[in-house]
Amino acid sequence: MNKLFERKNRTGPVLFSEYEKGSAVKKALLTDRDDILLEIRESGLRGRGGAGFPVSVKWMLTAAANSPQKFVICNADEGEPGTFKDRVLLSEYPELVLEGMIIAGYTVGARKGIIYLRAEYSYIKDFLQSKIEEMRSDGNLGKNICGRKDFDFDISIRLGSGAYVCGEETALIESLEGHRGEPRNRPPFPVNTGYLGFPTVVNNVETLASVPHIINKGGEWYHKFGTGKSSGSKLFSVSGDCRYPGVYELQWGITIKELLDLCGAENTKAVQIGGASGICIPESEFSRQISFEDASTGGSVMVFNKNRKMIDVLQNFMEFFTEESCGQCTPCRIGNVKLLEGVNMIRNNEYSLEYIEKLKELGETMKIASKCGLGQTSPNPFISILNNFKDEIFGMN
Ligand code: SF4
Repeated sequence: MNKLFERKNRTGPVLFSEYEKGSAVKKALLTDRDDILLEIRESGLRGRGGAGFPVSVKWMLTAAANSPQKFVICNADEGEPGTFKDRVLLSEYPELVLEGMIIAGYTVGARKGIIYLRAEYSYIKDFLQSKIEEMRSDGNLGKNICGRKDFDFDISIRLGSGAYVCGEETALIESLEGHRGEPRNRPPFPVNTGYLGFPTVVNNVETLASVPHIINKGGEWYHKFGTGKSSGSKLFSVSGDCRYPGVYELQWGITIKELLDLCGAENTKAVQIGGASGICIPESEFSRQISFEDASTGGSVMVFNKNRKMIDVLQNFMEFFTEESCGQCTPCRIGNVKLLEGVNMIRNNEYSLEYIEKLKELGETMKIASKCGLGQTSPNPFISILNNFKDEIFGMN
């Protein structure tokens, strides 16, 4: 069967399955807030932006915070290179995202939701706004939602300005407040001190879109998909050297080999799992599972065939991080420049293996000493590509 045709008629076990608009909000609003929290906990749902933090814990902490005001923020700053699955949810399944926000607001006691939309997705803004207005006129958003006199919740959209680091939740909040998009020191965490100093839930688009299905079908149902520690389904943005790139909804635990077969990849040399900040996996490890406990990803899967030069791939990634580092902390600001210099030294045959080992050690230090996820993960491609493709890279000179 033609897989391109299949892509147009997406199906999947959770997000790309049948859904009756508004049904989950109606059901949630008839459910006790504590029971929703228990359902989300039973589902095992973890953040889909990459970090995998348990959603129930985030929601419980925000619900428990004593504050006159709380917020729900949908992190739609999908900036990880190779990731485009949130774009599909926002443009083809917007009700799932909006309803997930409403249910989160009801559960934690927030009355205001904000979608932080990446600048590059500004073309989706009017469409999303029309969906918000539709929900308002249907009584599913705004005052007294679904006739409940004690629950108001509304959603607005704010545009980012194109900085990768604003995908990090505290940098995102800084940006929303009108400051430079730089990560904050933590603690305090947003669940206590978030947007404008109020308790705030920040969840990724895919995370929120999973919630209505969990409410309708139950946490136990959701937990049956995937592996024990990585429950549910996952959207994978597959790009690169394959016949059928696109967004796939699959269960956690699928092997890299199985995914390569699905997307029609042949002659594959490497797969970058988790975007530029992820790890580069060689053919000898294609039996590994994609899951939080093995090869983890927020969604990006980049396929490289045997015509690619891995030093080119690495240079591309390190140039990206050098450009996107916000410069606030030294390990990341200087470290990424040093790693990129190392790549250029290899290209120019001006290196010693001893110095490259020192750079890998620097990378390990960056992982623990950097302030936010950018600097903590940017050494991943440097270390994994140099380790896994050393014969190609160091044999080229
Ligand atoms: Fe900024 Fe990088 Fe430090 Fe994060 S790790 S705060 S991006 S300099």
